[in-house]
Amino acid sequence: MKVITSGRQLSRVIAARRKRGERIGFVPTMGALHEGHLSLIRRARKESGCVVVSIFVNPLQFGPAEDYSRYPRARKTDHALCRRAGVDLVFSPSVKEVYPAGFRSAVVVWGLGEVLCGRTRPGHFRGVATVVAKLFHIVDPDTAYFGQKDAQQAALIRRLVRDLDFPVRITVCPTVREPDGLAMSSRNAYLSALERRQAPILYRSLQKARALILREGQRDAGVIKRAVRASISRASEARIDYVAVVSKQDLTPLNKIKGECLIAVAVWFGKTRLIDNTIVKVKAGKSKK
Ligand code: AMP
Repeated sequence: MKVITSGRQLSRVIAARRKRGERIGFVPTMGALHEGHLSLIRRARKESGCVVVSIFVNPLQFGPAEDYSRYPRARKTDHALCRRAGVDLVFSPSVKEVYPAGFRSAVVVWGLGEVLCGRTRPGHFRGVATVVAKLFHIVDPDTAYFGQKDAQQAALIRRLVRDLDFPVRITVCPTVREPDGLAMSSRNAYLSALERRQAPILYRSLQKARALILREGQRDAGVIKRAVRASISRASEARIDYVAVVSKQDLTPLNKIKGECLIAVAVWFGKTRLIDNTIVKVKAGKSKK
């Protein structure tokens, strides 16, 4: 495994591997790797000759009052985990390498970046789209792997790739969870013992929503949202940011559950904001209500 800090050098090494006929699989991350990241890496390993993982805490996607400086960084463990998972190339650039002095450009995906998490985190998805566009240019992957845990990010990246003609296939992998259902996240480390005990309420409330739709035939998005809110509110430390029922593709709000819909939640536990979601597919004509 090679660790590379220069974008130019990485592009050269990757170009040579592509010449040898290898498919390039790419997993962008911010490090502090856990089983969620590793599931993407394993999928990339299965499907590609050359696996590239980027580890870059992207300052552009953090708001001024957010946790950029205290975001967990674990370079040594991350490298060991990558090596063990069979990664070929780790791209670990400095902030200056990605955003040299004078950098003034941005990529905006209209309509998908301002809703849901974008309301609480203005500018966040502009930062995500900008860094992903840059990384796609540097790595030029055949396939890039993202997690369903960040459903809004996945929808936005799919749109970005279509809109700007990036020749890359986007594969979205299922959310990896702790045994009690909590979606794995680098930010779970911030939770106090009490908050950590209560945090699986996100998963349980989403399971409740699934049961209402799939077992009881409920199709009214308002009823679903109220049930999810009521369930989350039972946790004393939880403060709801949003509960949303939207179309999976373009994130527009739905009144009625139909097609592929995304039920997404964001909840504060103290200063830590957790997100989770589930996708429900409903066939036409199956409604009881
Ligand atoms: P991050 O390091 O948080 O930027 O995440 C890097 C990638 O890993 C993103 O595509 C995330 O969606 C994905 N990811 C993070 N947590 C999980 C998880 N629990 N399950 C699956 N994918 C995840």
